[in-house]
Amino acid sequence: MHYFGYKKGGLYAEEVPVGKLTEAYGTPLFIYSYRTLRRHFLAYDKAFGKIPHIICYALKANPNSAIIRTFASHGGGADIVSGGELYRALKAGVDPRKIVYAGVGKTVEEIRFALSKGILMFNMESDQELIEINRVASLMKKKAPVALRVNPDIDPKTHPYISTGMKEHKFGVPIEDALDFYMQAKKLKNLEIVGIHAHIGSQITEVTPFVDALNSIILLIKGLGENGINVRYLDIGGGLGIRYVSEEPPMPSDLASELIPILRDMSVTVIIEPGRSLVGNAGIFVTKVIYTKNGEGKEFIIVDGAMNDLIRPTLYGAFHNIIPVRKNRRKKILADIVGPICESGDFLGKARNLPRPERGELLAVMSSGAYGFSMSSNYNSRPRAAEVLVNGERHYLIKKRENLNDLIRGESIPGFL
Ligand SMILES: *Cc1c(COP(=O)(O)O)cnc(C)c1O
Repeated sequence: MHYFGYKKGGLYAEEVPVGKLTEAYGTPLFIYSYRTLRRHFLAYDKAFGKIPHIICYALKANPNSAIIRTFASHGGGADIVSGGELYRALKAGVDPRKIVYAGVGKTVEEIRFALSKGILMFNMESDQELIEINRVASLMKKKAPVALRVNPDIDPKTHPYISTGMKEHKFGVPIEDALDFYMQAKKLKNLEIVGIHAHIGSQITEVTPFVDALNSIILLIKGLGENGINVRYLDIGGGLGIRYVSEEPPMPSDLASELIPILRDMSVTVIIEPGRSLVGNAGIFVTKVIYTKNGEGKEFIIVDGAMNDLIRPTLYGAFHNIIPVRKNRRKKILADIVGPICESGDFLGKARNLPRPERGELLAVMSSGAYGFSMSSNYNSRPRAAEVLVNGERHYLIKKRENLNDLIRGESIPGFL
């Protein structure tokens, strides 16, 4: 559920006409709905309300400071995968004791940074990392709180690029080897074992893979207990899907009602790391039609937004609904919606049925709040879009549009040229 919809034939973000926002901030433009963000966060918080839990927002879905603050101010933590994300989380006011740190390639500098800030735990992904975290912690005369990211070899039945919990993936350690890893970690003086972690993939639209993963983790926790290793935090990762078109993903409450009976007897705090399901449908991407043209047997709608702004269609073959900002009764055409970038892969939608747009009209690409701006680039030297947050009748610029100077910032021309 989200707060974007038509009123009197025009698309609104909460109480504000989208056309008013593009007048104020230009195009292309990411627009987020605060009420939607809050609603999605509270849905998780309520669903897991009966058991001790922390909702650690996965920053990589959308790391804008205002979005992070939205969740932090409701008691949320952060799931981070880099020193940059740690910096953002702290700047936005996330309590370090609610920050969990995953990722296969944590560097010494990043480990030191996280240790100095007192994060909740490192989700370790390999034996070398385990030794490195111990070493850095010992140099700092600290004990590093750690969890092991296990790979439960579960097929989440999602796109191969966003599936992470199967044997062939680079993430975590095979669950069969987990006990050995924990025993090794137990021997290291500067590690404190506090948790266990698994994250099996993204855009998962069934509950079963979560249940299967949790069941194998619970077995492992029991085995650990028999070996004198007790974990306090059970981090079940993120990955719950959203509706882009006709998917029927489980709601947080569906997930919770399957998982809580399994979790109830465990004396652990559950950590959930949702990204997409918090922000995906809380954002839209609005772009202006520059031209339309007839190609060989098809039409093209050329817009000012492109794959550098929203790469999901071309990277994952993802489908985003594209709708006119102002409804009209013009005859529908079948067209590809493409950007100005010099790549055939530069499209936002293919073979779409839309009323023929006129030059200057606006189109909204729905469900663009997750992995939209966060995966954007300057390819073709295109300044990145602006981001706006709407709350009721009010709207706030939360990221300024880049200008031409931003494009060459930090570059220098050697003197011999
Ligand atoms: C990407 C990621 C998430 C969030 O995934 P979503 O599908 O956006 O919910 C959570 N945890 C880890 C470790 C991740 O890498």
